[in-house]
Amino acid sequence: MITTRGLTKRFGQIVAVDHLDLDVREGDIYGFLGANGSGKTTTVRMLLGLVLATSGEISVLGQAMPASARAVLPEVGALVEGPAAYRNLSGRVNLALFDAMGPERDPSTRDKRIEEVLEKVGLAAVDKRPVRAYSLGMRQRLGLAGALLRRPRLLVLDEPTNGLDPQGIREIRALLLQLHAAGTTIFLSSHLLAEVEQLCTRVGVLDQGRLVIQEELATLQQPTGRTLVRTPDVQLARGLLDGQVEHHDDASLLVRVTDVAALNSRLVTRGVRVEELSPERRALEDIVLAATQPTSDQLTGR
Ligand code: ATP
Repeated sequence: MITTRGLTKRFGQIVAVDHLDLDVREGDIYGFLGANGSGKTTTVRMLLGLVLATSGEISVLGQAMPASARAVLPEVGALVEGPAAYRNLSGRVNLALFDAMGPERDPSTRDKRIEEVLEKVGLAAVDKRPVRAYSLGMRQRLGLAGALLRRPRLLVLDEPTNGLDPQGIREIRALLLQLHAAGTTIFLSSHLLAEVEQLCTRVGVLDQGRLVIQEELATLQQPTGRTLVRTPDVQLARGLLDGQVEHHDDASLLVRVTDVAALNSRLVTRGVRVEELSPERRALEDIVLAATQPTSDQLTGR
């Protein structure tokens, strides 16, 4: 859906994006992670033909960008650096203008389509106030409504939950999952690890303009070979698992065992009350921090 080869952007002395080989596949929810200033927005802008690359190649939906922008962009829903809108007009009028400028669609169904997308992004009840009186979260939702109006095969979103409250973040996450289930491939940039961990199937990590990780999330988060046991009988379990316990506290143990079922029956038959048993997986935070420069601890969202 998106591939780049050696994609590079320099601003004078600054190399904002450095030989990037992106590979976004059909059906991905691709999380493009990076600390502030790592080059995410510049990359997204190049993908959409909003800024020219210094060197390298870009293909979006199988066509070269920016050469094929006129054919490609109508099929892509995009939200970059906050939605563009006429600030003195209402959200509905903005969407109507956006629809009229897009690929040819039946104007008689325009109002219905606009109401559908407003409903999807949680703005159905919005009044006629001009967009300049919208909160940041409302503007973000309006931008998403615009992106959805095109019923895109590919959605490209730059920090889509920026400015939203926790409820809004949850709603947008649910909406993106729904769109993905209906067949839309999603590429989103974010500096929030938790957001990417909860939403994405595939992850790319940018560090100072370079792609240091690109992998399926499930592959990155392989089991570590240890099992977490939660139990009120920590001391009893420790005695039974002598030598295999790597760590314990008042309510849990970390055990060097991969066969969770065998571990469970071994504990239960000896009278240990097991509340939870789960294979430990690497946290995305640890994976990203290990792959990036120390300055990028903004990534953790702390
Ligand atoms: P953020 O999360 O803060 O938006 P980002 O990962 O999107 O960061 P970019 O905005 O792509 O990062 O910026 C990457 C680098 O390129 C930064 O060093 C930035 O200062 C520089 N940069 C971006 N746009 C320009 C420009 N128009 N002129 C000069 N330098 C720029």
